[in-house]
Amino acid sequence: MAVNSTLLNTMRVAKETVVAIEYTLKDDQGNIIDASGERGPMEYLHGAQNIIPGLEQGVEGLVAGDTKNVLVPPQLGYGEYSDKLLQLVPLSAFGANTPQVGMRFHAETNLGMRVLTIKKIDGEEVTLDGNHELAGKTLHFDIKVVSVRAAEPTELAHGHPHQSGGCCGGGGCGSGEASGGGCCSTEEGSEGGCCSTEEPAAQKQGGCGSGGCGCS
Ligand SMILES: [Zn+2]
Repeated sequence: MAVNSTLLNTMRVAKETVVAIEYTLKDDQGNIIDASGERGPMEYLHGAQNIIPGLEQGVEGLVAGDTKNVLVPPQLGYGEYSDKLLQLVPLSAFGANTPQVGMRFHAETNLGMRVLTIKKIDGEEVTLDGNHELAGKTLHFDIKVVSVRAAEPTELAHGHPHQSGGCCGGGGCGSGEASGGGCCSTEEGSEGGCCSTEEPAAQKQGGCGSGGCGCS
C-alpha cells in the first residue's frame, strides 16, 4: 500500500522543478568544506544553472527522500585551477591597508569583477589569485532531497525559486550572506555574484544576481 501512495506523490527532479536539498560537501581528504546544516536545505530551480553543473546532473531524476553521493570533477564544478588568474601587484597598491595572506576582496580585473585572494606576499610584491577557492577540486557531495515541486511561472521567468519572502527573500540567494555585500547590491550585480563570498558552496556564483534581483 505504501507503494501506491508513494507513486501518487512522487515528483522527480527535472527541468522546471524547484528542489530543496540538504548536503554536506567534502574534499578528497574527507574534510567538510560546506554543509547546508543549520542554514537549512538549499532550494534551487532545476535546469536554470542555479547550482554547479555536476551537482545538478547528480540530482536529476531523484525524488523527495532520496539520498545520494555525488562526485563532481573540477570541470563540472568550479573549473580547473588556472595560473592565468594569478597576478602580481606592488604592496603600495594597498595604500594604508596591510595585506595579509588569505585576505579576500572584490576587485575589477580584466576579466570583470572578481573575488581575489592574497596568495603570497614577497617583499614588495603581492600575488593575487582570482581562482575560485574550490577551483581544481573534486567535490564530494552527500545529498538528501527534501522536496520537489513544480516551479511557478514567475519563478521560471526569473530563473530562480521564490520563497515566502518573495524574490531574493529568505535564503533564496544565500541566507548566510553578509549584510554589507548583500545580494543584489549594484557592486556585485555586474558579476552576478550575489553573496559570492558567503554563499553556499554548492550554489553557483550568480545564482541569484543573474536572475535579476529586485524583481517581485
Ligand atoms: Zn525573482
